[in-house]
Amino acid sequence: MKKGTVRVITVLVTAITLSVVCLACHKLRTTKSGTEGASPKEAFRGVVLYPSDIRSLGAEKLVDILKGAGINLLGIHSNTITEDLDSLRIYLESADGQLLMELCQKNGIDVEYECHVLKEMLPRSLFDIHPEYFRLDAKGSRTNDLNICFSSDEAWAVIEKNVMELLRWLQPTTNRYFFWIDDSRDGFCHCDKCAPYSPSDQALLYENKMLQIIRKVNPEATLAHLAYASTLEAPGTVKPLEGIFLEFAPIGRNYANPLPPEEHNALKKNLEVFPKETAHLLEYWLDASMFSKWNRNNWTRVPWNPDECQRDIELYRELGIESFTTFATWMLHQRYFELHGQDEAVKAVNEYGSLLKQSSL
Ligand SMILES: [Zn+2]
Repeated sequence: MKKGTVRVITVLVTAITLSVVCLACHKLRTTKSGTEGASPKEAFRGVVLYPSDIRSLGAEKLVDILKGAGINLLGIHSNTITEDLDSLRIYLESADGQLLMELCQKNGIDVEYECHVLKEMLPRSLFDIHPEYFRLDAKGSRTNDLNICFSSDEAWAVIEKNVMELLRWLQPTTNRYFFWIDDSRDGFCHCDKCAPYSPSDQALLYENKMLQIIRKVNPEATLAHLAYASTLEAPGTVKPLEGIFLEFAPIGRNYANPLPPEEHNALKKNLEVFPKETAHLLEYWLDASMFSKWNRNNWTRVPWNPDECQRDIELYRELGIESFTTFATWMLHQRYFELHGQDEAVKAVNEYGSLLKQSSL
């Protein structure tokens, strides 16, 4: 073979190899340290569960199911109302909780905590002596029902102290933190300082401050901006600090239909404010608690349909999103297995994991 031909072939092979490597990199996410290099890992394929779900199955059985389905991320959820941070901590410190951590680590499953923390970080009992820590409602009354006055520096001093305590035991293996505000549709502050900001902007003010607090303990921390319900619209005035990532959670969808246009548009707008590379999808495809309307007397079968899930994943991926999780609360639960069959539930998780494993659908 002539030298020139060899050179052309070498150049071509190098170009093809580089393209393949670049494509592979696109599908990979960064390491636990959140930085490029070290040992790149695959994009997240997660499920989110309550401590009570995990407890009902036991760590060993759960990890076997997750491993079989190719799930590489477990999010543990608390919401203050039905399961609070104390119940999460008690589980994590139990023998089964310790075993869970060990088995997840052994099987390459990251663990994160997706929690509504605000009510617990600023105890409602402080309202009696410090009503100004709390929000002014739309009628002009101070109330401690939901959230806080996001502009109150004194409230933030209390929050910081409590967050420091929380960070002693709540340590995600991904450096991604999810310290959500209260779960509400109209729980924001109307005081003079907060009123100019939309719900999404108030949430982002909170998240920017929260990230700065967390980074005092963990400089590699990143924090979710939860776009959801009343914070679905993109923030208009507040800019995210570096390290705030988008978490989009389209709660209450009808899965027979594609993502509704208003939610699709809101997601696109959010992706103009937050980096695409770190954006994360929190879906409800396997959320038996939502399909049961959070009523344990009405423990409903999940209307799982892999074609609908595939359709949704394609839409999200077209927008550049690669990091996925879904609530699987009350489905990966012993009671659900007894009511609706373990095989059917495990099959759904397997199909979900397998859809996300396919690099292109
Ligand atoms: Zn306020």
